[in-house]
Amino acid sequence: TLTTRFAPSPTGYLHVGGARTALYSWLYAKKNGGDFILRIEDTDLERSTQESVDAIMDGMNWLNLEWTQGPFYQTKRFDRYKEVIAQLIESGNAYRCYCTPEEVETMREEARAKGEKEKYNGMWRERTDWPEDKPFVIRFKNPLDGDVVISDQVKGEIVISNQELDDLIIARSDGSPTYNLTVVVDDWDMGVTHVVRGDDHVNNTPRQINILKALGAPLPEYAHIPMILGDDGKRLSKRHGAVSVMQYRDDGYLPEALLNYLVRLGWSHGDQEIFSRDEMIELFDLTGCNRAPSAFNTDKLIWVNQHYMKTLAPEYVAEHLAWHMQDQGIDTETGPALADIVKVQADRVKTLKEMASISSYFYQDFTEFDEKAAKKHLRPVAQQPLEVVKAKLTALENWVAEDIHSAINATAEELELGMGKVGMPLRVAATGAGNSPSLDVTLELLPREKVIARIDMALA
Ligand code: GLU
Repeated sequence: TLTTRFAPSPTGYLHVGGARTALYSWLYAKKNGGDFILRIEDTDLERSTQESVDAIMDGMNWLNLEWTQGPFYQTKRFDRYKEVIAQLIESGNAYRCYCTPEEVETMREEARAKGEKEKYNGMWRERTDWPEDKPFVIRFKNPLDGDVVISDQVKGEIVISNQELDDLIIARSDGSPTYNLTVVVDDWDMGVTHVVRGDDHVNNTPRQINILKALGAPLPEYAHIPMILGDDGKRLSKRHGAVSVMQYRDDGYLPEALLNYLVRLGWSHGDQEIFSRDEMIELFDLTGCNRAPSAFNTDKLIWVNQHYMKTLAPEYVAEHLAWHMQDQGIDTETGPALADIVKVQADRVKTLKEMASISSYFYQDFTEFDEKAAKKHLRPVAQQPLEVVKAKLTALENWVAEDIHSAINATAEELELGMGKVGMPLRVAATGAGNSPSLDVTLELLPREKVIARIDMALA
């Protein structure tokens, strides 16, 4: 089976770059009916935390990127790595190196002095006169000549001369395996057929290929995805604002929006912008990925978010809105159905967070009116229009938008005022704010007693 994997190091939250890599791996597996593995690369014991593992999984769950195998933890596979290291030594593909850190430093200095690439010189490659009781590392015997050719699905053909590569350390002096070794063993054992990852790993690939070859393991296909940049052209980082996937949830984005935004960030299908999950799966292809890095654009993300707030089922959007209401301490137990709020607010806001915060008057009473709006439309109190409209609203047989609208209209006519001279004071009175969805619809969503009580408060 076609198999891809996402292999994060649990040293922080899931950031958007990682999420996009995960998305592309997931999509490619899905598209081809394959497997998608989650592998936790936690061998750096000092920097890896369970908290990060949880945060990464939370992010993937929120985006709905379900893995079909795993999570596998590298720290649980140390015996297997030792076995493979022994196998490489046995087959003459790896050897003990007793160089001291000082000796390695001298090699570096010499290379620098000659203007050459810093490389280990292979001095222990063929030696067996091992000193007793001295620490040693295990190095991989990289081929001395020939080229490594990578047919990268995104970057095209990459050729690296073996002369560029030195003998990589695969086990440290305490016996612990290094990154390139563990990745190779895992990709091999887990039957990974397509390695999709950030192009910050492209320099590791020829080394990993050489180790795979030495093991007689099949070579996967590679796809290295260019990185994501901030709006200043530098690699996306915290400096640019939110980078954690869960921060986007907190900021009020729908998972569908972030996912759609991320799939387009570095991949295109004509000039189509909106892709449902099924469409992404059907149309995605690694070969359609950009070779150049892409810049993160928050305005575009907002645009996509607005699209989904307006077009997804209001009942579904409401489930996400409920989270924000709770987050902002707004009790929605009584009051209009959240789906109705979505219907009237979706085209008025950028995010669900904003939607929650401007909708509090549907659920909570307020003690003050927005100062600016009140100054403009209430004070000096719009006494007469409010009194007349209050009487008409009280007398309505049915509390429905259409009739509410007529009552406001009739008030304006009776007092020979423009609609705004009635509507605006009424809006500020009923909502506390100077802006709201269409007034008749807004009032309909509120219980009549509440509207009347708020008018009284404005008149007081
Ligand atoms: N653990 C590596 C990282 O977090 C990824 C390794 C890989 O994908 O091969 O960057």
